[in-house]
Amino acid sequence: MTLFDSPAFEGHEGVHAFFDEKTGLKCIIAVHSTARGPAAGGCRMWPYASSELALEDALRLSRAMSYKNAMADLELGGGKSVIIGDSRTQKTPALFEAFGRAVEDVGGKYWTAEDVGVSPADLMSARKHTRYVAGLEGHPAASGDPSPVTAEGVFRGVQLCVRRALNRDLDGVTVAVQGVGHVGAYLADKLHAAGARLILTDVNEEALREVAARTNAAVVTPAAIFDAEADVFAPCALGGAINADTLPRLHAKVIAGGANNQLADPEIGRALFERGILYAPDYVINGGGIINVAGEIRALERGEAFDAAWVDGKLARLTQTLEEVLDRSRHEARPTHEVANEMARARISGAAEKRAAA
Ligand code: NAD
Repeated sequence: MTLFDSPAFEGHEGVHAFFDEKTGLKCIIAVHSTARGPAAGGCRMWPYASSELALEDALRLSRAMSYKNAMADLELGGGKSVIIGDSRTQKTPALFEAFGRAVEDVGGKYWTAEDVGVSPADLMSARKHTRYVAGLEGHPAASGDPSPVTAEGVFRGVQLCVRRALNRDLDGVTVAVQGVGHVGAYLADKLHAAGARLILTDVNEEALREVAARTNAAVVTPAAIFDAEADVFAPCALGGAINADTLPRLHAKVIAGGANNQLADPEIGRALFERGILYAPDYVINGGGIINVAGEIRALERGEAFDAAWVDGKLARLTQTLEEVLDRSRHEARPTHEVANEMARARISGAAEKRAAA
């Protein structure tokens, strides 16, 4: 495979590879699109087995950020960076300073933030050499933990989907939540407060016990969550929860949760549609986190403090966008994930045309 033939390349504007001899930094910054604004997406540090796999991941994640940012109606494009290395053993402040220089070299076309293996402290090191860093701590523009905002967006999305698919509100509806980490725990609290009955699971038994106790929830093993007698399935753990093995076991009429990459492949999305299961496209319903980060970028760019009201306005808009996806899916008799992808591509190409005409 060469770069331009990769299925994940799909029109990337730029792909930048950096090597720093002194610190051993090997990093790729992929900029999928800046049509709507500077590309924004987190930095992932992962011990990729090859640079080809790192490149593939950077491209895939960067394109996904373009789609997510467009559907969240942000004036941001999509990008992502990956650092090849083990975050448990190979992290140093100097490595992240070198990463900061790499981000600076991209000249403001890419804003970085946290992702797997990267902490706020690492970002502070990067910030010594570039201002294009969000996810700061102790700064008036800092946006803090995005999880509550993500969970609020998911909660509103679940509410909307339940109204659409079951024609009722959340009171008495049974929701199976897979994963009660940052997003799942906040979501469980909100659902409980709205009168939903909960079935929870997590591989972390302590967290599971704690959240279940305060939300009066039933608890099942991680393997049994797919068989739960629930109206809604909310994946809030890792990707790929909906696959050929789990799909036939699901009872839910709605799938709506915070996890990224819930569908093992696009065909599963079509299978859900054909079974009459309403699926809230993951990158639309979980856009609250990036909206929160965008609030920080906006504050930094303007030299202002973080504005929670702006974030809330965007979150309200996100639920409207999800509603538009559901409407179009119904009217056009097409799966929701296909509609969402088409809308995202149209928003990006629309912005590119406007820019070209200006
Ligand atoms: P987290 O690590 O805090 O929570 C994930 C939870 O899932 C953990 O408690 C973990 O023990 C549990 N888990 C892992 N494997 C499991 C399994 N097989 N069965 C049941 N539970 C399992 O992560 P998070 O920040 O809550 O994110 C959850 C998901 O939402 C991820 O896919 C993430 O990419 C996505 N997401 C998060 C945000 C955010 O703001 N945090 C924003 C957008 C998307």
